[in-house]
Amino acid sequence: MSIQKWPDGLPRAGNRQFEQMKSISPWFEIYKINEKTFALLEPHHDEEVFSFILLGDNKAVLIDTGMGISDIRREVENITKLPVMVVNTHTHFDHTGDNCRFDEIACFNDTFELNNLEQGHSKQFCQEFMQSGSYQNLPDGFVPEDYYIKPSKATRTLNHLDQLDLGNRTLVIHHTPGHSPGSICIEDTGYRILFTGDTYYRGSIFVHLPGSDQQAFFDSGEYLYSLLDRIDILCPGHNECLAPKDDIGQLHSTLGKIKNGLLNFEIDRGSKFYQLDHFNLRLPLTD
Ligand SMILES: [Zn+2]
Repeated sequence: MSIQKWPDGLPRAGNRQFEQMKSISPWFEIYKINEKTFALLEPHHDEEVFSFILLGDNKAVLIDTGMGISDIRREVENITKLPVMVVNTHTHFDHTGDNCRFDEIACFNDTFELNNLEQGHSKQFCQEFMQSGSYQNLPDGFVPEDYYIKPSKATRTLNHLDQLDLGNRTLVIHHTPGHSPGSICIEDTGYRILFTGDTYYRGSIFVHLPGSDQQAFFDSGEYLYSLLDRIDILCPGHNECLAPKDDIGQLHSTLGKIKNGLLNFEIDRGSKFYQLDHFNLRLPLTD
């Protein structure tokens, strides 16, 4: 069954299994994945986006910075006093909203992604995601009509298979373009977790956006499948902070069927819409 439409079905089963930590702002829910890994959910917006805090011995990585509707840095500093480097899985507005609050920011070495950071996302663009019915319980003082994403700057650019050493914890960067040109998945080699950003989550996966590339997405599906014996679980960027790695097997076989024209789709809102068991896919009308 595909995931229920927000806000039905909250809190979602994939999140309920984890101990919930106290957040400073009620805008966030914080789930403890393990002693050194925390998922920060923004449950009051229908994006249901996740950011993740990963603690090493010497430094912390914050995977994505959420929507920028409430101060994520305050939440991070409440969890760790370690120096924090942001690593963006990609640079869409809902993953870079609070980048501007951080000094150290890494993203994939790709012009589309670097430009998104430098330009931010305009008020006009962001309005589409602030229509009534798409949020609830906004923090005091937040004005939806004024919402935009401030510019930020990558202080480090990442390449395929780069390693990040947090002190007794190593992350490997895997370039998985398709959703966007510089989308990455981040492998935690010790905990055997793959943080998949928007390349895979249970929900509607978008491969029809400006900057998306269907062929690249198919290739990334193939590549992710080849990583499966290195990981145990997935931590995706939306809806549920944990998914079984078997989901990648399903993604892989689904993409194979689509390539061979074996799956039916609907034309819906300007894209090909494939409805599947754990996720849906939106592909461009022309490939
Ligand atoms: Zn995205």
